[in-house]
Amino acid sequence: MINQIITILILSFLVDCWRGYDFNAIIKNTDRFHPYKYSRDLKFKRDVKAAFKNSRHDDEVTRNYFKQIQKLITRRSFAKNEKNETTLIIGAGPVGLLAALEKYVSGEPHIILAEKRNDYERNVWFDLYPEPYSPAFNILYELGFGSQQIEFQSQKMTNGSAITIRCQLLERFLSKILFVLSILDPSLVLLYGFELTSVLFSPRSVVLKSLVDGRILVPFHRLIACDGYNSRTRFLLKIPTKVVDEFTIFNHKVHIKNLHQVSVIVGFKPTNSSSSCPELRADPFNPDSTIDPWMPGFMVNGISSIFKRFYHGHCHMQILLNKVFGEKFLINSHVNVDWVTILQMVNTVMKHPYTNVEQLKRSITTKTDGSLDLVILKSQILKSDDNHYSLGSGSSLTLRGDASANAHFRLGVGVNTAFISYRYHTSQNLSRYLREEYVRKQWEAVVNNMVGTMFLETYCNYVIFMDKGERGDRFDKYEPGKMIVYERDFKNLDYVQVKERQVTKCIREWTQ
Ligand SMILES: Cc1cc2nc3c(=O)[nH]c(=O)nc-3n(C[C@H](O)[C@H](O)[C@H](O)COP(=O)(O)OP(=O)(O)OC[C@H]3O[C@@H](n4cnc5c(N)ncnc54)[C@H](O)[C@@H]3O)c2cc1C
Repeated sequence: MINQIITILILSFLVDCWRGYDFNAIIKNTDRFHPYKYSRDLKFKRDVKAAFKNSRHDDEVTRNYFKQIQKLITRRSFAKNEKNETTLIIGAGPVGLLAALEKYVSGEPHIILAEKRNDYERNVWFDLYPEPYSPAFNILYELGFGSQQIEFQSQKMTNGSAITIRCQLLERFLSKILFVLSILDPSLVLLYGFELTSVLFSPRSVVLKSLVDGRILVPFHRLIACDGYNSRTRFLLKIPTKVVDEFTIFNHKVHIKNLHQVSVIVGFKPTNSSSSCPELRADPFNPDSTIDPWMPGFMVNGISSIFKRFYHGHCHMQILLNKVFGEKFLINSHVNVDWVTILQMVNTVMKHPYTNVEQLKRSITTKTDGSLDLVILKSQILKSDDNHYSLGSGSSLTLRGDASANAHFRLGVGVNTAFISYRYHTSQNLSRYLREEYVRKQWEAVVNNMVGTMFLETYCNYVIFMDKGERGDRFDKYEPGKMIVYERDFKNLDYVQVKERQVTKCIREWTQ
């Protein structure tokens, strides 16, 4: 079956086999890699093969790059090969890319990754957290993502050593590794520009549609849906999702009807031709650094935190509101945005505050429909009942990433969980059963954590920090007590840890 697909692709590519490129630049720089374009370039593929065989590269970066690729191939060769089955992954966002890599190193015999996009151009950012919260950095380094590349298009966050990384940079890096592996090993097939349109039951297969290559039928044994928040796979297989409004904290099982959080996202114009964003205020405790996301909460009543994406001409600010202010915005969102409050919130983090609402409005980007780039977002966590389903006749469906539970409003949850999942799934010390079990439990814990945090922040005005645990490894072995709850000490601009009974009191107020 894989041969059939390869034949179809090769026939359609023959007309399109040569174009000019700078091989070394593409290997060195992730931002030059365009998966669809290069997957159709036969000369480039031949050159990759030749370069891989030629281990004596003059260039150190190229040499190291192929060394990392060789390590992945060696890991695969040690992994136990399973039955001659096909694993089909739908969606090559961060979760799908890591799933394909995981299946490759864990020795699955046939892997197909289908993605409807042709290229990676999403202009958003991912938040990568350090150990012990997430193994993201270590995994990226292991895969050959050099520190220079990380620094190339990323920014350190002010609250520690977390970094935000351009989404397209991470996706291109991971897809390039898979691309090189797929050239060297035909058991991995990448289909860019192919969209899942239907799932058939007899035989178990999916229909993928491409604008250039038409429709193809792909049989599978294991289907892994990584196709994001509005997962088509989930929709076609009629897997329901529901709003998560239950969570456990300090051994209390809590149910809050219609649990949600409201935030305002504002897009600002760059201030000059070099695409600089408006300047941000310095953190009062650390003048070398811009303001801490939680700091504005000390200054304006009603804000739990402000996250800023203020780099490379991408100037977005997300303001998370508490319940009282959130409702005010929600009610007014279509009629009358509360500009005075927005002005006050924005000015708390701007080095040069806007003097009035008109000036603030002029600083906000205009969208193509002529309206201002201002979004009022009501966030709820939507989740499927389970992550794993039998589809009969020995075939199965697994939901991963945002397809399983949307994680977007808690920054970095989706992408860091994908790295944790990759680490467990490729761990040589664990049985396959234990790997599945750990990842499932960990995901449940993360969802509980997201929903609990949302409640405490929005409804109780608390600030939540995570305890690393004594051994520094407890983030992925979640226990409810690990969340540390603080309230703001407005007088001293500090946080004071709250007692369990205060949390219980707040829960009672909202559940009675
Ligand atoms: C508004 C918003 C803001 C966010 N901000 C941040 C942030 O600041 N920091 C952060 O870390 N995270 C943020 N996130 C979360 C982050 O985007 C997700 O956690 C992450 O993208 C989840 O990865 P995923 O691979 O599961 O899904 P996605 O990244 O959505 O990937 C799904 C992939 O599936 C493909 N696909 C979909 N349907 C089909 C189909 N039928 N056939 C084939 N392919 C298909 C899509 O093209 C896509 O490539 C934000 C999310 C949103 C929505």
